[in-house]
Amino acid sequence: MKFDAITEPLDLRLAEGLTRLAAVARQLDWESAESAGLSPTQADILRFVASRPVGVRLTAAADHAGVRKATASDAVAALERKALVRKHADALDARAVALRTTTKGQRSAEAWPISFRSVIEGLSAAEQTLLFGLVVKMIRQLQHRGLIAPQRTCVTCRHFRENRSPGTNTPHYCALVGAPMAEHHLRLDCPEHESAA
Ligand code: SF4
Repeated sequence: MKFDAITEPLDLRLAEGLTRLAAVARQLDWESAESAGLSPTQADILRFVASRPVGVRLTAAADHAGVRKATASDAVAALERKALVRKHADALDARAVALRTTTKGQRSAEAWPISFRSVIEGLSAAEQTLLFGLVVKMIRQLQHRGLIAPQRTCVTCRHFRENRSPGTNTPHYCALVGAPMAEHHLRLDCPEHESAA
């Protein structure tokens, strides 16, 4: 086949395509941050803190944003000045500090546009389900290789029973909820997550 000889390997073209999609999503995120008067790191940390109402340590926020602790500390200071985030005593350790959003910060984070949504909207429900399974798999691989901070996903949770009923529409099971799960039910950021590690 002539095209076998003149076509780049599939993995390279996939990597190129995903890089382009990520660039679009990053650009949309930057535009949203700019219009809210925030830097991309400040916006990332604000949304992360908003997703954890019990509070989050600075180190976790830095890991999530993929920046050094000093950079995260500067971003948090800016968020405090804008009255979007406040420091509190950590509920588990009174000597430690936990970050929480203010009411204004929570509202701002909840209204934040999800940059990738416009990319996903063009896919059918079946395509979204298929893609979701692949995204979960890629996140899991990156987490195993230490390339992204631990995520609160089902596949790393001690309550998750993977493929307990193979060949069915709901092959997985959550022992905490006590219910079977389909592939599209898997969570990427579950508040009840407990690490299996
Ligand atoms: S507790 Fe949450 S993360 Fe854990 S298996 Fe159940 S739904 Fe998934």
